[in-house]
Amino acid sequence: MIIQLKAHAGQNYLERLIRQLDKDGVVRQRLDIYAGDTYTLVGIKGDASQLNEDLYRALSYVLDVHRISDPFKELSRQFHPKTTVIRLSNGHRIGAELTIIGGPCAIESYQQLYKSAKLAAEAGANVIRGGAFKPRTLHRSFQGLGEEGLKYLSKVSQSLGLPVVSEIMDASDIPLFEQYQVDIWQVGARNCLNYAFLDALAQVKHPRPVMLKRGDHVSLEEFLGAALRLYEGNPQVILCERGDKTPDRVHRNVLNLNNVAFIKQNYHLPVIVDPSHGSGVRKLVPDLGLAGIAAGADGLMVEVHHNPEKALCDGAQSLSREFKDLVPLARAIYKLKCGA
Ligand code: PEP
Ligand code: MN
Repeated sequence: MIIQLKAHAGQNYLERLIRQLDKDGVVRQRLDIYAGDTYTLVGIKGDASQLNEDLYRALSYVLDVHRISDPFKELSRQFHPKTTVIRLSNGHRIGAELTIIGGPCAIESYQQLYKSAKLAAEAGANVIRGGAFKPRTLHRSFQGLGEEGLKYLSKVSQSLGLPVVSEIMDASDIPLFEQYQVDIWQVGARNCLNYAFLDALAQVKHPRPVMLKRGDHVSLEEFLGAALRLYEGNPQVILCERGDKTPDRVHRNVLNLNNVAFIKQNYHLPVIVDPSHGSGVRKLVPDLGLAGIAAGADGLMVEVHHNPEKALCDGAQSLSREFKDLVPLARAIYKLKCGA
């Protein structure tokens, strides 16, 4: 950490700062002081993560405080060069092979889930998605089947022999997700910064992998901070990029592929791209999904419905038979990128 004093702050201020650091447990021997013509810089050697940088920034004679080491260092490739691999019940390894998640936005009935999941599985999906608890903008819209939906999901998972992912919206549903053995617990975009909820998930005794979706207004720093919160309790964290809201009214969201490339280059958690919510437009889903893999993503999550025109939720962004054409292209790009 480097503390920069205000222009022409004199020796008195430097000594005040040294006394303050000493009170906070940083001895004089750990300080490197550079006195320039205008600015004095005080460098702290070693781990300064325990210092409250806001308190130092608030000192009247301090201009700024610069952190040198990555605040998310546990997630950084500097400390953990290889991508984290998450092994699922069917042996599929997220982070080590291409992950294709397909299935309907919402579980509407057993038949609807089974038909949609089968279509996805036949096209090459290795994980099935389906929402039992749906966070809808309008509370009068279909909210999902709740526990009944989880029952159907577990039945479909058994009959197709594939693991499943579903969104958990509230800590009070943790026992249900444990009971129905949901393989991956999705934290939706709206809950990305719900710290009390993230902490509750991090404290689950026998945790399942958690897939954290980035909120449409959530910065990269906030996203990594939320991931780290989960990671400290449960290292099986998957990140999901699903786009930003922009003034553009043609697209529901705009997929942020900068984030995908940046996170993959610098951090070790696996990243899944969701081109369905990332655009909201069925025709754009395949191209955006492929672009996500090209940007370095470990996989895709795509909404697949056997009859999108009848879908109770997100039919306009759901694929049906087109999904079959997307998967081999995704595999080809992944192979070129990762050689696997
Ligand atoms: C979903 O994936 O079902 C979903 C609701 O997405 P998001 O949280 O990204 O809006
Ligand atoms: Mn949806």
